[in-house]
Amino acid sequence: MQTREGPVTTIEWLTTSTGVRYGYVYYHHTVRKRYRAALGTIRCIDDGFWRPYKLELRDFLKYLLGRLGTDNLDPFVFAGGGLVISSPEMPSDRDFVLRNIGISRRHHGTKLLKIYNHHDCAFAGGFARFNNDLRAEFEFHCRELFHAAHIVREAFPDLEIRLHFIDCEGVIRIEEPK
Ligand SMILES: [Zn+2]
Repeated sequence: MQTREGPVTTIEWLTTSTGVRYGYVYYHHTVRKRYRAALGTIRCIDDGFWRPYKLELRDFLKYLLGRLGTDNLDPFVFAGGGLVISSPEMPSDRDFVLRNIGISRRHHGTKLLKIYNHHDCAFAGGFARFNNDLRAEFEFHCRELFHAAHIVREAFPDLEIRLHFIDCEGVIRIEEPK
């Protein structure tokens, strides 16, 4: 049997007995299996910093594949990234994120979480909020990330957490003062 792969130019519409119309728009064969996640990531929806996130992660996943034998990733993407944990618009938003981390741990055994905030994040009021002061913005996000890490650590004490800030130069790793 020929396996179809790739985009569909003309959708072959089918109809169920209840009148639901459906048809593939893309073919890709997936071998479904349970996996252990090498890590989870939390990042903002902002597409402007998608590329550095992906490039840094691609290399890091290669390293994890060699060390752990898995490079599966549970990515959590929502407006604000780590800010939703440290300074959520509503407390239930933070609960939602923590529940998601819990599901990732239970079902995929996730032991490492990388949290990313980024430059000029609309969720934090953009760069204008800091009067275009890069240092002030960076220090704000450091404080927010440390707060987020503290909250996640309280909920999941054995989870390894790495903190990051993405700016126009690349991806920065941040560690709390000892
Ligand atoms: Zn953002």
